[in-house]
Amino acid sequence: MSITNNRLTAEQYHNNFSDIHPPFETKDAAQVEANRCLFCYDAPCTKSCPTGINVPKFIKQITTDNIKGSAHTIFVSNIMGAGCSKVCPVEKLCEGACVYNLMDEEAIPIAKLQRYSTEKAMEHNWQLFERKPSTGKKVAIVGAGPAGLSCAHVLSCEGIDVTVYEKENKGGGLMTYGIAAYKVTPQFCEDEVNYILGIGGIEIKYNQELGKNILLSDLQKKYDVVYLAIGVGLARQLDIPGEEMEGVVDAIKFIYDIREGGYDKVPVGDNVAVIGMGMTAIDAATQAKRLGAKEVTMLYRRTENEKPCTQVELDIARLDGCKIVWLAAPKEIKGENARPDDPFGRGKVQQLVCSVMKLGEPDTSGRRSPVDTGETFTLNVDMVIKAAGQMPFEELVKINSIENKSGKVVIKENGETNIKGIFAGGDCVNGGKEVVDAVQAGKDGAAGILRYLGIGY
Ligand code: SF4
Repeated sequence: MSITNNRLTAEQYHNNFSDIHPPFETKDAAQVEANRCLFCYDAPCTKSCPTGINVPKFIKQITTDNIKGSAHTIFVSNIMGAGCSKVCPVEKLCEGACVYNLMDEEAIPIAKLQRYSTEKAMEHNWQLFERKPSTGKKVAIVGAGPAGLSCAHVLSCEGIDVTVYEKENKGGGLMTYGIAAYKVTPQFCEDEVNYILGIGGIEIKYNQELGKNILLSDLQKKYDVVYLAIGVGLARQLDIPGEEMEGVVDAIKFIYDIREGGYDKVPVGDNVAVIGMGMTAIDAATQAKRLGAKEVTMLYRRTENEKPCTQVELDIARLDGCKIVWLAAPKEIKGENARPDDPFGRGKVQQLVCSVMKLGEPDTSGRRSPVDTGETFTLNVDMVIKAAGQMPFEELVKINSIENKSGKVVIKENGETNIKGIFAGGDCVNGGKEVVDAVQAGKDGAAGILRYLGIGY
């Protein structure tokens, strides 16, 4: 067993990482699907979209070939509507709510239609929003992820001068760095960020990390308002023996490396265990398989009924050949003794010992909690990917005296934190949700900031 990179040919990488949801090939194909829409009154698809996109309206516009109007309808609610059409779990949002499901017929392919309009807008660089004259007000946004960019776009439309401070060298946040490359490519993410910036009035300063290159106190002095959209950090620790061994990696770091480094550069094991069953766990497991791992086993401490991922995501993992083990929790990672040639003096992973769980009483989440049966089983693995949730930047928040609950920023109804003029939103507040939730959080934050600045909105 070994962890190595460059396991496949260029063609195999290309095939394994090509777009999982191909677009409509022709205008006719899009119009046939658009014409199936019943244009429901009080449409459930719109109600189930966290950003409230007027779905029947944008689909109707496709039927009359008014693609510009359709894209505007989408972007006015969700400026990252193009990216969301690729990464949203639509089966539990708009498409899951489509009335066709009640008739046991295929739901309208809302995401594919949304992609049809928005990609055309990006391709032709149609700028569908006009920035109002500058108000002279300045807002700093920390984090160029979906919440930060969405907030920046609304503020810029209203004539606010926005500066975004981003710790990475690209914008897009989770969209750019935390999602499987076969769902959304790095190039698309870059194009989407540039498209959003097309309105003007937004400057992104890259490689600027809060607490390292920039201080909150300095931003407070320079700007009328600061909006924190710092997201969440690396994977939650397992807190089990052997976690420090060579071959144990964070899922987010693994996904980040695939997107930044290139498919052939990222090492993957022969036998990989993935801990967790959320979207990040699925993205890590499927990509490990697509990078050439011989066997990938996903472990979850509850049953399929309590899984956090959607059925569609689970089906992708199964189709990719990942094994799924329910009611299993990691107990210990075993391996060879510490090696003097390793800079950290670690040994290599050889086995993962797991506890067999059973379901107990419901916990605070309402789901039945996993209880250790005392039995164990052992998997022979050379790589363990941790995807048991992400942790908020607790230290950073505390050091800046921002009120928080276990690191999650506490905000008032208007989005403001306990510190006057400092607002926050997105994953750093809710602990990590979907991209589309972050976009809405950015809109809400912008509305609160505009009211705070006395600008009608
Ligand atoms: Fe169209 Fe389905 Fe939405 Fe009704 S629920 S408006 S049919 S997409």
